[in-house]
Amino acid sequence: MGKEQKDEKPADTPLPSSAPPDRRPIVVSGPSGVGKGTLYGLLFERHPDTFCLSVSHTTRDPRPGEEHAVHYHFVKMEDFEDLIAKDGFVEHAKYGRNRYGTSKMTIEEQTKKGKVVLLDIEMEGVKQIKNSGIDARYIFVSPPSIETLEQRLRGRGTETEQSIQERLAQAQKELDFSKTPGVHDIIIVNDDLEASYKKFEEFVYSPPQ
Ligand code: 5GP
Repeated sequence: MGKEQKDEKPADTPLPSSAPPDRRPIVVSGPSGVGKGTLYGLLFERHPDTFCLSVSHTTRDPRPGEEHAVHYHFVKMEDFEDLIAKDGFVEHAKYGRNRYGTSKMTIEEQTKKGKVVLLDIEMEGVKQIKNSGIDARYIFVSPPSIETLEQRLRGRGTETEQSIQERLAQAQKELDFSKTPGVHDIIIVNDDLEASYKKFEEFVYSPPQ
């Protein structure tokens, strides 16, 4: 699922009562197709005006229904590389044949909204955020098995065979990385949507450790 965001409140909106006690950015990672977007989409729906998604830059083409500047900033490779040269990214990574990154400007814009910022990024980005000095919380969403993940990737019908193979190879790397002790604050195995959502929400609303 692609990134989901609907966010039109002006800057400096007072904190709504459903704001979580821990307001650090939340980094959500996990293999493509695992259901991260569905989980945080539910969080945004059930706690309106509380969270906002960091809208990443990507060189990949939009999927049907994805909008520029809502799901991603869809840019050409040369524009992406230009932004790297200008030191415009907090983190960026290659994923398959495409590049993805979180721009400094996006983080500034989202932080100004006074909401809790959620980042949906892959593991190289996770490592860079960890090294950046940004104090964040880390959630990893895992599939029950690689087979289930493959079924989901095929089922959503948005990927070519090559893209499915690249995503499965990448998934194995992400799963291996997720086993590094202390990297993530919580690992949620997404086997049942409501049960997984409950764990996701409980973690987001837990007090600062
Ligand atoms: P998709 O093409 O399925 O939207 O995303 C592919 C992968 O790129 C996902 O694992 C997603 O989390 C990751 N991703 C999306 N935006 C960013 C970003 O800004 N930085 C990094 N490092 N990964 C990203």
